[in-house]
Parts: sequence; C-alpha cells; structure tokens
Amino acid sequence: MIQKFKDSGYEIVDFSDKADIYVINTCTVTSIADKKSRQFLRHAKKINSDSIIVAVGCYVQVARDVLEKIPEIDLCLGTNEKSKIVFYVEEFLKTKNKDVKIDDVFKDPEYSEFGSVTYTDKTRAVIKVQDGCDRFCSYCIIPYARGRVRSRNPESVIKEISQIAKTGIKEVVITGIHIASYGKDFNNVYKLIDLLEDINKIDGIKRIRLRFNRTTFNYR
Ligand code: SF4
Repeated sequence: MIQKFKDSGYEIVDFSDKADIYVINTCTVTSIADKKSRQFLRHAKKINSDSIIVAVGCYVQVARDVLEKIPEIDLCLGTNEKSKIVFYVEEFLKTKNKDVKIDDVFKDPEYSEFGSVTYTDKTRAVIKVQDGCDRFCSYCIIPYARGRVRSRNPESVIKEISQIAKTGIKEVVITGIHIASYGKDFNNVYKLIDLLEDINKIDGIKRIRLRFNRTTFNYR
C-alpha cells in the first residue's frame, strides 16, 4: 500500500507525524490485536482531526459491525480492497462520503497480484508468495479474514526477485499466511520446495529465509 501511494505521488510520513491520510492496516489475530487496531484508529484522528482515517485489512474483514460504528473512521476496506486503496481514498476526497467496501474473502480463487510490492531494507527484501489458509483451526480467525490458500504465480515471484537482485539485495524473506501450503492450489505440481529451488538459481541471491507465525528459517 505504501508503494501504491508513493506511485501516485503521495509523501509517506511517520505515523506519529501530522498527516492528511492515516491508513491503519488492522490485525485480528487476537482480541488484543483488535483492541490495538481500534486504539490506533482513534489515536490517528487525535493527531489531526481534519485527516482521513482509513481502516484496512483483516479486522475490517471480520468486524464490519464494530468498525462501522467508530465515528473517527472514514473508510473501511476489507482484505481484497487493499490493492485499490488509492482509488478509494481519492473517491473520498471528491465526495467526502464515508464508505465501507468489504468483499467476500472466499470469492477470489486466485492470488491477487498487488503489483511490484516489496519491503526492502538495504540488505534484504520481503516477498509475499501466498495468501490465505485452508486449515480452519478451531481457535483461529485467519481463514475468515484472509480466505483460502492462494499461491502467487511462480513466474511473478522469480521476476520480482530477479529485479531486486540486480539492485544488490542478497537476501529475500519469503512470506505468506501459510507458506507450507504454497502450491496447494496448483494441485501441488509446483510446491514451496520448487519455488525455493528456482529462487536459489537467481544470480545474486545468497540467502533465502522463510517467515511464518513469527518464526524464521534459513534455506541456505
Ligand atoms: S494453520 Fe495457522 S493460520 Fe491456518 S487456521 Fe490454523 S492457526 Fe490459523
């Protein structure tokens, strides 16, 4: 989302700074995460009472009834709306109409490409390769917030990492909601290990990390 705003000419500032638009990418993995999301949304409006407050993501997806009632929020955007965030913000700038856009998270059978989006520092890049989870563990809300397993097209992953490698980045962190399920929606003809082996062939990439549930493993 940061990249999309940058591409549209917006300046990105620290969350604690006075800004025109605040985007809170909400989490709902625990009740504490829900509470923190609500606190951030209210706090942003206090920093600048004239700002536009946008609630996005997982908590919005599963708690529409709660978030609709928070008066500080101008736009509620569900999981599938992130890629169109700039469009929705600019519509709001024109109309000033508060809006809620929440799609059926189970509707889209394929991974939704976000464009070339990568979080990088000087040494490593975080690459999302997968979304959703099919496990439906009884205590977990994630499948309802993120939908079923959708794997990113391997060509797209390899293309993005190849471009990053040319900039001198040597390490990539492969991430997703349940990356062990990568390829399940390709009938397992191409799995996570196949993706890692293809990434391993890219010139310049020296280390691959796998990140899920706060745990990180090194591939080499
Ligand atoms: S495997 Fe993990 S993300 Fe998936 S439902 Fe279970 S706890 Fe949630």
